[in-house]
Amino acid sequence: MKICIDAGHYGKYNRSPADGRYYESEFTWKLHLLQKKYLEEYGVEVIVTREDQEKDLGLYSRGAASRGCALFISDHTNAVGSGVNDEVDYPAAYCAIDGRADGIGMALAQCVERVIGTRQQARIEHRRGKNGDYYGVLRGATAVGTPGLILENSFHTNTQVARWLLEDENVDRLARAEAETIALYYNLIQPLPEKRSGWVEENGGWRFYLGNTGEPVRNDWYLDGNDWYWFDGAGMMVSDNWKTGSDGTWYFLGSNGAMVRDQWVVWKNELYRLTEDGSMFEGEICLKTDNKGALREPEEVRLSKQSQLSARKRTKKRRKRKRCGKKKRLS
Ligand SMILES: [Zn+2]
Repeated sequence: MKICIDAGHYGKYNRSPADGRYYESEFTWKLHLLQKKYLEEYGVEVIVTREDQEKDLGLYSRGAASRGCALFISDHTNAVGSGVNDEVDYPAAYCAIDGRADGIGMALAQCVERVIGTRQQARIEHRRGKNGDYYGVLRGATAVGTPGLILENSFHTNTQVARWLLEDENVDRLARAEAETIALYYNLIQPLPEKRSGWVEENGGWRFYLGNTGEPVRNDWYLDGNDWYWFDGAGMMVSDNWKTGSDGTWYFLGSNGAMVRDQWVVWKNELYRLTEDGSMFEGEICLKTDNKGALREPEEVRLSKQSQLSARKRTKKRRKRKRCGKKKRLS
């Protein structure tokens, strides 16, 4: 979709009698650039009638610049008389007399009413001249087949409105809301790709998508509930296999992918012991039977990670000897 936006006036034009800092030309210049920015976020191609804020251009030619566009908008603020009038406060869209911009014109005027909070309701108007539309920009737009409208963002003869429009933050809000109104009217809101979250079965395995980014966990551990899972570079959960930690510690990922803890594992016909923190036990285990003759679970495999680390500092031989010796003494 292509839209043509016209900043209503150039230079310093139409100063507010209510607040001397306000010029309609300066407001519409700011507004139209922001409208362009926000419309482009919806994928709209936006052309503007003015390259230069200081330069005047003919009314008809500005409208006619919209050839090939689906909409022509000329941005303005209104005035009642030449003095201050704090009573009159409403947005209006002057739509081309062919009626083709009436719908979007009303939607935009209502948008302005909502954002500024005008005292009177939004409205649309049509004004016929001798040769069709009274307004030159609309004559130009209609001549090239573009639905055209003039958007009066309420009245700069109103003190409250002029002051409101002087705030950059408000101009930004207004432009953003107007772009959104256009996007809604023309169904431009493209559905965002569905953000996946949590466990997803795909490509013959499992991935875990992080809710905040919508990206799967890759080359990393993820703690889900009480269980740790490891995902490879493709984001696939690893199962029935070993994984070394950064410190060289071996961990085993069970058939459901969860890191095995405090369990015996048979892997390729060999028996391994995984401790409570999931690290593979290395060393010597002395098995003892209880009074029924059942093998008792050896104390060593219940060692915490902390004691495992401190145990590793000792020599392997001494550790073995000491453990077995300790066990003997205890039994
Ligand atoms: Zn104007």
